[in-house]
Amino acid sequence: MLKQATFRFYEELNDFLPLDKKKVDFVRLFSGNPSIKDIVEAIGIPHVEIDLILVNGSSVDFKYILQDNDRVSVYPVFETLGINNVTHLRAQPLRVSTFILDVHLGKLANYLRMLGFDTLYRNDNDDPEIIRISLEEHRIILTRDIGLLKVKSVTHAYFVREQHPKRQLEEVLKHFDLYKDISPFNRCIKCNGHLEPVEKEKIIQHLEPLTIKYFNVFFQCKNCRSIFWEGSHYEHMLEFIQTIQQEVIGTGL
Ligand SMILES: [Zn+2]
Repeated sequence: MLKQATFRFYEELNDFLPLDKKKVDFVRLFSGNPSIKDIVEAIGIPHVEIDLILVNGSSVDFKYILQDNDRVSVYPVFETLGINNVTHLRAQPLRVSTFILDVHLGKLANYLRMLGFDTLYRNDNDDPEIIRISLEEHRIILTRDIGLLKVKSVTHAYFVREQHPKRQLEEVLKHFDLYKDISPFNRCIKCNGHLEPVEKEKIIQHLEPLTIKYFNVFFQCKNCRSIFWEGSHYEHMLEFIQTIQQEVIGTGL
């Protein structure tokens, strides 16, 4: 016998829905005794994006068995609801945001490292490896692959909506509220190692003549020994950060 339930998805969960189901109540027919998690994923929403499910006004966990004529409201992670005494489906948010990125997000990885965020990225990491590292090191997976978000063992992951790397960076900074944690010249863009200040004399043999002439402040990666300095690259980065921050102020955040 077919049963039915009414669903509504809130905020950015609508990104996963077809146009006719965005931001409206819609009816879903079902049979048997599916869990709410199975139904919601069948509708197309990865479970890692969900923080709260209300059924007929009460919070339920993912194991809840959907009943005939249920009314289901589904809210995203990080949504501020102002509702007390509800069952949040997430574990506690990770205290310090550290990341592992899928193979499509190399540029974004560079930008995050430029701003000082602990960001793992390899262009040859496969999905099982990314998931394993995420779980072992409590890293948030950033991905453009919805399939990866639906893997059962994944606990902390975010689907990056934007396609352009700079807009992706803005999206991630905003979503995880990272602006206060920006710390340039902290991470090596090449390998994610820690940077430390280094005296010019100690590395002078590795520098080009013009670099020696014009620059005095240098940093070196503790891991791969790459050398960075506050040159035009640094100026561009500062400008870029300021642009982003001004946009944030402009939007009232
Ligand atoms: Zn390095």
